[in-house]
Order: sequence, then C-alpha cells, then structure tokens
Amino acid sequence: MAKLNLNRVPMPKQDPKLRGRNFNEVALGYSLEQAKEEASRCIQCPNRNCVEGCPVGIDISAFIKAIREDNIPEAVRVLKSKNSLPGICGRVCPQETQCEAACSLAKKGAPIAIGRLERFVADWERANMPKASSPLPQPTPSGKQVAVIGSGPAGLTAAADLVKLGHSVNIFEALHVAGGVLMYGIPEFRLPKEIVQSEVDYVASLGVKIELDSVVGKLVTIDELLNNGYQAVFLATGAGLPMFLNIPGENLNGIYSANEFLTRVNLMKAYRFPEYDTPVKVGQRVAVIGGGNVAMDSARCALRLGAKEVYIVYRRSEAEMPARREEVENAKEEDIQFKLLTNPKRFLGDEQNWVVGMECYEMELGEPDESGRRRPVIKPGSEFVIDVDEVIVALGTTPNPLIAATTPGLETTKRGTVVADEATGKTKKDKVWAGGDIVTGAATVISAMGAGKLAAADIDKFLRG
Ligand SMILES: Cc1cc2nc3c(=O)[nH]c(=O)nc-3n(C[C@H](O)[C@H](O)[C@H](O)COP(=O)(O)OP(=O)(O)OC[C@H]3O[C@@H](n4cnc5c(N)ncnc54)[C@H](O)[C@@H]3O)c2cc1C
Repeated sequence: MAKLNLNRVPMPKQDPKLRGRNFNEVALGYSLEQAKEEASRCIQCPNRNCVEGCPVGIDISAFIKAIREDNIPEAVRVLKSKNSLPGICGRVCPQETQCEAACSLAKKGAPIAIGRLERFVADWERANMPKASSPLPQPTPSGKQVAVIGSGPAGLTAAADLVKLGHSVNIFEALHVAGGVLMYGIPEFRLPKEIVQSEVDYVASLGVKIELDSVVGKLVTIDELLNNGYQAVFLATGAGLPMFLNIPGENLNGIYSANEFLTRVNLMKAYRFPEYDTPVKVGQRVAVIGGGNVAMDSARCALRLGAKEVYIVYRRSEAEMPARREEVENAKEEDIQFKLLTNPKRFLGDEQNWVVGMECYEMELGEPDESGRRRPVIKPGSEFVIDVDEVIVALGTTPNPLIAATTPGLETTKRGTVVADEATGKTKKDKVWAGGDIVTGAATVISAMGAGKLAAADIDKFLRG
C-alpha cells in the first residue's frame, strides 16, 4: 500500500508586505500540476465522510478522482451538478470545519485541501471552457412561477435548482447588483467580484431572471406577488441590519458599522475614489470591534486604504474568535494588531465631534455562556484609553425587519429571524419558504446554499402537488 502523504501542497499567496497595500487577491490558486499533486493525496476511502460534511452534497471524492486522472472537464461536471457557485465556495467556505474536518487524513495529518481544489476546478473552467461547451440542462417547463427574494447564496442556489426542475424563477434584488454579501461585504482581495459576477451570470444563463433595484416590501409585497401569478415565494433576504455597542459616543464622526464601511469599500469601490464617487474615511489608527470574518475583512480593508495601525479589539481570547483560522493568520501576517480580552466602554471625541479615542476595559474569561464560549467578564478598575481616529463596529447583524413588517402571517423570533422548518424551509405562512441568514442569523455561505437547496426541493414537491 502506498505511504500516506500527510502534508498538503501550500497555497501560493501574495507577499504580506505587498498585499497589505493592494486589493488584489491574496491567495493565488493552484496550478494544474499543484492541483494534481494535492488530489493524488486523496486515498478515495470508501466511507466518503467528506461528502457527508458538505451541506450541498458535492461528490467530493469523484471530482478529486477526476483531477487526479487529468480529466478536469469531468471534475467541472461533478461539481456543477450540485453547486452552481464553486468559485465562490472554493474561496470562502469554512471547509476546515466541514468537508475537510471529515476527511480521513485529518486524523493523522493535513486533510485534503478540498476547498483549494474546488477553487482550482472553477477557475480552470472559467479560463478553459468556453460557455457554449458546458451543456445547460433543458428541463420540461412546469408552467409554475416562483419568486425568490434576495440574490445572495441562498437565493441564487434555490433559483438555480428550481429553474433546473422546470419552474420559471424571478429573483427580486434590492441592490443594483446581484450576489448579496458576496458582492457588497466580502472584499475583493478574498473574493474577486469578477468571480461572483461570472457565477451569477451562470445562474442567469440557466434561465433565472434577476430584477435589480427591486426592494420587496416597498415596491411590491409578498402577498401581492402571490396574488399576481407566483405560486411560491422563497425569502432569502439575509441579515443585513448591523448591531451596535450602544455605549456613549457611538454616534461620533469616524465610527462606522462594518456594513456601511464594507459596502462603501466593496460595492461602491471607495478604494478607487475619486475614480468612483463614493468616499470613505481613511483613518491612520483604526480600531475594529469584533472577532468574526467581518471584523477581519474590515481591518484588512482599513490597512489597504492606508491606515498606519489597525487593531482588532475583541472581548474574548483568540481561541473563541469566530473568524476562519486562515483569515486570522492572514491578518496577523499583514501586521494587524490583536487587542484581545478588551472591550470598549465609551468613545471619546474632539470639539468637531470626530472620534479621537476609545476607553476600554480589560476583560477576563468566566464560565461558559449560552453560546458555549467562556463569558467575558470586566476586570474592575482596568480602564485604559486607545487613541484612534476611526472605529468600525463589526458585532454581527440581524435581518432587516421590512419583509416581516409587510408580510402578515410570517412568524419571526425575538431576534427578528424568520421561523422556518429546518428540513424544508417552510415558514408558518402558506406558499412561503425562507432560508439562509434570514432564518439562522449571520452564518455562512454554504449553510445559506444548503438551505436554498432544501427549500427548492420542497417548493418543487409542493408545486407538483
Ligand atoms: C464581511 C463578511 C464576510 C463574510 N465572510 C464569510 C466567509 O469567509 N465565509 C462564509 O462562509 N461566510 C462569510 N460571511 C457570511 C456569508 O456571507 C453569509 O452568511 C451569506 O452571504 C448569507 O447568504 P444569504 O443568501 O442568506 O444572504 P445575503 O448574502 O445577505 O443576501 C441577501 C440579499 O437579499 C437582498 N435583500 C435584502 N432585503 C431585500 C428586500 N426587501 N427585497 C429584495 N432584496 C432584498 C440583499 O440586498 C442581498 O443581496 C461573511 C459575511 C460578511 C458580511
């Protein structure tokens, strides 16, 4: 039996010194040779735990086998049969806690780099397979119409699956571009917008119509859609409402929610101001409050905009940080400074009401709270001041209340999330399904996609009576 290779092929990356000042992609992707070498580590074990670990059920061992055999078009076919957004998932999915965590090699060494291989296949397809050569499914039309509200990963996935099943699908998207957080939240250096656009275009090429600048709840209500030709509605409007600290001084100039900051930078291209006309404050000493992916992205954007010092201010320790390990490491390589076990008490401003400082408490960890993580507790008398001229609050988000407020019969929780059956996405309102962050609160791309798939299957069952 061949000896196990327990070390993965490293991902080529931009030099940290250079990349901290540009918005180009950090990870550069495998070459064909590197992808084949990494794929050859896969032992094709019969239990296929990796497939179980994938919320959209990609046949991981089959696409890796195809790479090994140098049959990349077959790898593309296997991937795309389950996942319409592989270039996105290959870049931002938390594979380390899903498919890769379930890999048999993980018990002894580094699991197969499934995400990197997925990204390789998606990028190879874009570079090598002209659009016309990938055959599109030609289903028999069902004569039924479905409205999907929101074009993030949940909406795009549900729409792609429903159209492949023969239903006519319209996505209504509030913004002027499709893609949701993938477009307005996750920065270019982690997920180039060209990749998102090409995968949105693929979903549109399947026959999904995307109506931009369409705020459902203002332009039209869910009941109006149901009374005007749609037999089912899938709600996938995400969780775009930012949470704040609610401490003194939070309204000072120079303090942004991460949503506003990232939308200015990514969607409105503020990093190319004045070529693009939306500006953003360029701070010299920037504090980002929070420890998730959104905080890492905000900190790394602030650095690229020209900040001299950027701090991640997090009230627990690094072990409790919800951000992906890889992104924490990338941030450290770029000299982002981590002020752990630290929590703001109040913000300090100058006479013009611009933020100039942040008074903080030192924290320590107590007993685990309801999230299972150790509760941060204030150390009495530990206050100290950090000088800052910009603050970005990245504490998490909840769903925007517009849909719930304009849709009678839709049940929501205290947190504002929509109540839906976990296995089907069915809400308490007739003919309405929901999935993704609107149901779970801020979560992950792949969990939103998984929810989109489950809901599409249930909507199809309903439409076929
Ligand atoms: C900065 C940032 C970084 C992240 N990094 C990662 C990561 O590395 N890995 C990962 O897995 N996850 C990451 N996430 C989380 C992930 O992006 C989300 O969990 C995922 O996008 C949720 O998908 P969704 O389809 O439910 O909603 P969204 O992506 O939020 O899409 C919802 C869409 O609905 C639209 N919409 C809202 N209201 C209406 C309305 N009334 N009418 C019409 N349209 C409406 C919105 O404009 C939006 O386009 C990150 C999130 C952020 C903010």
